[in-house]
Amino acid sequence: MTIQRFQGTAIQLDFGSLTESSFPQKLEQFAAQKILILVDENTQQHCLDYLLTSFEQLSQAEVIVLPPGEETKSIEYAVQLWELLTDYEVTKKDLLICLGGGVVSDLGAFVASTYKRGLHCILIPTSLLAMIDAAIGGKNGIDFKGYKNLIGSIAQPEYIYIDPGFLHTLPWPEYMSGLGEALKHSLIGGPALWAQFKKEAALVIENKQALPSELLWELIQVKTTIVEQDPFEKGSRQILNLGHTLGHAFEAVLFDSSPIAHGVAVAWGLVYEAKLASIQGLLDPAFAQELSAFVSAYFTELPEVALEAKALAPYLNQDKKNLDNQWRYAALKSPGAYLLNQSFELAQLEAVLKS
Ligand code: NAD
Repeated sequence: MTIQRFQGTAIQLDFGSLTESSFPQKLEQFAAQKILILVDENTQQHCLDYLLTSFEQLSQAEVIVLPPGEETKSIEYAVQLWELLTDYEVTKKDLLICLGGGVVSDLGAFVASTYKRGLHCILIPTSLLAMIDAAIGGKNGIDFKGYKNLIGSIAQPEYIYIDPGFLHTLPWPEYMSGLGEALKHSLIGGPALWAQFKKEAALVIENKQALPSELLWELIQVKTTIVEQDPFEKGSRQILNLGHTLGHAFEAVLFDSSPIAHGVAVAWGLVYEAKLASIQGLLDPAFAQELSAFVSAYFTELPEVALEAKALAPYLNQDKKNLDNQWRYAALKSPGAYLLNQSFELAQLEAVLKS
């Protein structure tokens, strides 16, 4: 596969085999400096060897291993990483490579962006969700006091290398989680992308096979294009929160009792936000139904306990999009068309959760 390249003012990204990409040349720039590679136990097992054996420049790299899972995206691990960077006497000329899913990139890039006010950082996402979404756009952070992404920064990494080859070892439930964010991107992308995604994702799920690389690249470009237009989320970038107002609340409310994958929470967030948009007269109810049927057919069911408006309320109260003490969401009007900062009330939420 030839390398596809996105070179914006905020985002620099190569899509394709790492060995064919600009990664080796990039490493040359850091050859005389310290290089640290951040992994979790799973990406250490499945992805690290390929990196170490393919690139001689990494032979002296320090490898830092984290436990896998969302619990690691915490202030405790951020502190441990800052301590390690200090022990290794890392300077602003050194490089941190984050090799992993969204947890490794969110935490690693947050630590890199705050340590000495910013270290060089390269992201190599290894999960579908991180390739399509988490590693792109410079939003870094950690969860805090049970709330998702409460502490963080917006700082772009030096470069992002997306090599779909890493997906061969990704467990299927994690692949499905990535398809939740992919679903969001297809809805943002417009009617043609939604239709293509709906058709191809059904085949992918039924046969447990990988998304065609051309479609993966299309979905990635939905994100790169939006972030380039509004890297600091002053306006148009807020559309990337589609499905996330309720999705984050579902994820948080279930976190202790029956945790669900981020992308699955987002898929259901898209469904219930579509229902909300339809009762507010913004979206054709038939489309909300079409989306609901698609998610019901292919994604794990949302546990009943997540459908309690009063349980979701404390998490919605902490949502960063709230304005004038009102809950807000990005409302879909049709694929490719939306309304930002749309408010909604408890009674409306109760109505859609019962539907
Ligand atoms: P994750 O990092 O926990 O990865 C999922 C699981 O897959 C982990 O167990 C991981 O070890 C394993 N894994 C990853 N790559 C693998 C591979 N190639 N082979 C085998 N195992 C592999 O979670 P995720 O789904 O990648 O990301 C979710 C996180 O991303 C959430 O914290 C979410 O909030 C965040 N996120 C951030 C943004 C952003 O813009 N910063 C956007 C969306 C999501």
